Amino acid sequence: QYVWIHDTLTPQEEAGVSFEDRGYYFGDGIYEVIRLYDGKPFLWEEHFERFTRSAAELDLPFPKPLENIKEDMLHLIETNKVHNGIIYMQMTRGVQERNHLYSREITPVITAFTKEEDVPSHLQEQGISLRAVEDIRWLRCDIKTINLLGNVMAKRSAEDNGCHEALLHRGPTVTEGSSTNVFMVKNGVIYTHPADNYILKGITRQFIQKLCIEKGIPFKESAFTLEDLRGADELFIASTSHEIVPVHRVSGTIEKTLPSRELTDELQKTFQERKLS
Ligand code: PLP
Repeated sequence: QYVWIHDTLTPQEEAGVSFEDRGYYFGDGIYEVIRLYDGKPFLWEEHFERFTRSAAELDLPFPKPLENIKEDMLHLIETNKVHNGIIYMQMTRGVQERNHLYSREITPVITAFTKEEDVPSHLQEQGISLRAVEDIRWLRCDIKTINLLGNVMAKRSAEDNGCHEALLHRGPTVTEGSSTNVFMVKNGVIYTHPADNYILKGITRQFIQKLCIEKGIPFKESAFTLEDLRGADELFIASTSHEIVPVHRVSGTIEKTLPSRELTDELQKTFQERKLS
């Protein structure tokens, strides 16, 4: 398997990053995860648009034109002959003696790897449970930064309590999961947190919104609370790696069993049809 590093394809066992990379010291960088179905990238342009936005928000310049970066990534995918899986790409601010104050003179470092990875169909079929925990992350969750400690701690806490994913809430308001967006279904309407600074605007979330508009399913970008969740019919999570996964139970700050998954299953079915078309 090859990885992308120092502007070239390198066998993974030979790849290394500098001791002084700011990604290592400060988590100073951004990333994207893109799915590949039958070797073809899914929602490629959308992911690069978000990557560009994350870079701009963090004052990170691309080391070369975006079109060339895309070509590099396609080159990696082709070389590794990925069939069904992901490409992970990240860009750190680069190498500089440790100092909070970053220099604008340094060149960002792009690294990427690919992985053969099936969609988690067992989770999609069986559903998962979520652990409701307080969202302690910073106030720019809209930036896809590699600085993910709040997410990492929430995910561990979920797993330690027998749940697959965290349900993050700021006070009473549900925001998202540790690496997924969260959707509540109530009386045939889908609710999800607005794409502001409190959540990452998921590319899958965007795609689901589009599917809902096409199918005439009411989709509201309107935050819901733990209290609202008590009367919910369905709950599901979505992300690049999970696609759409139903939730059958929530524990932690709130205890709730979800009675249905009808609309979730319908959306999942549509998603499967559309992802390959
Ligand atoms: N929210 C967070 C915090 C994430 O880390 C992710 C994906 O990694 C998502 C939502 C879902 O985003 P996407 O659908 O683009 O994978």
